[in-house]
Amino acid sequence: MAYPPGPAVYPPVMGMQAPVMYNPVPGYEGLVPGASGGFIPPPPVQPMPTPDSLPAQDWSVPALSEEAAREAFLKYVGDNCCWSSGPAKDGVITNKEQFNTYRYRLETYTESRKTEWATKPYDGQPVNAFTQPPPGPWQIPVTPPEMFKDSVTDVEVPYTSSVKPCDKCSATGKCACVACTGSGNKVCQNCNGSGKISAEESCNECNGTGRKKCSDCSGQGTKECEICKGKRQLLSYIKLTAEWKNNVEDYVAEQASGLKIEKLDSVTGKQLIKDTKYMVYPLMGFPDQNMIQASERIVGDHHRKYSQSARILQQQQTVELIPITKVSYQWEGKSYIYYVYGNESKVKADDYPATCCCTIL
Ligand SMILES: [Zn+2]
Ligand SMILES: [Zn+2]
Ligand SMILES: [Zn+2]
Repeated sequence: MAYPPGPAVYPPVMGMQAPVMYNPVPGYEGLVPGASGGFIPPPPVQPMPTPDSLPAQDWSVPALSEEAAREAFLKYVGDNCCWSSGPAKDGVITNKEQFNTYRYRLETYTESRKTEWATKPYDGQPVNAFTQPPPGPWQIPVTPPEMFKDSVTDVEVPYTSSVKPCDKCSATGKCACVACTGSGNKVCQNCNGSGKISAEESCNECNGTGRKKCSDCSGQGTKECEICKGKRQLLSYIKLTAEWKNNVEDYVAEQASGLKIEKLDSVTGKQLIKDTKYMVYPLMGFPDQNMIQASERIVGDHHRKYSQSARILQQQQTVELIPITKVSYQWEGKSYIYYVYGNESKVKADDYPATCCCTIL
């Protein structure tokens, strides 16, 4: 069934459901009231980036000193309830090995847009549908928040608003009170509606009537309509929702220390490269071939994934060198190990020999 072209404003229909009527808005004809809007592909403006050379850098971190290793270990042991500090304090460090590794990270900051019909209580604002063609979804200026921060915002698409009566309250601005089903009063709880406390004594809470005024609606039987907030009319318009998202992907180069890679999520390293631009080019001339390949793969993936459904606003790639030191030590004639990793000098020690007195409940 085709909807007849109706006026943007029409009189409220009392006591019956108002017919659904709308004029398709030029450029938004596919948008049907009540249906959820879809994502809008951005216009094709995604030139490929060009490579640039890496600046010279000091790509090393100093070896962890014995004092620093012991200090980190003592702090770690101290943070574990009831562990004895003996092995950390008096254990003899026999070996320190460095297994420093690289972390590559690509952040792709995108904006996506969708449109849908929306309504809000009509407050007398000017109505502007059909006064001129509305701008396309990507022509509407929307200010993005701080770069690389997730955010979402709604704006009204200009020249799409019209006024319609509120269906929910049949344009009366009021709806029947749910608590008293519109009667304005409720059964008295004190006498269960009998009006009497005993055979002789009448209920003084309800003056013997068995019913009390409904407190939800102050006895009116109706409440303000929640949809139009009592305004009787709704402003109908096309709502544009812009969503900004930072899409982050990491790659950590394998290392042979025995420390699991996931552990490195919680630490930072020495930043070797930070490259921020509209679109980055994969790493060039980096000393580790695995990092170059990971960078090519991730940059390609992000371009494929995010340039179709969204608009890429900015990219940032970083390379960190994460220090990892494997420390071997002796305690009461036996050998143990622990790891010190990250700028934060986090410690991992699975075989700590003095954890006895705490039981996990
Ligand atoms: Zn009563
Ligand atoms: Zn009520
Ligand atoms: Zn209403």
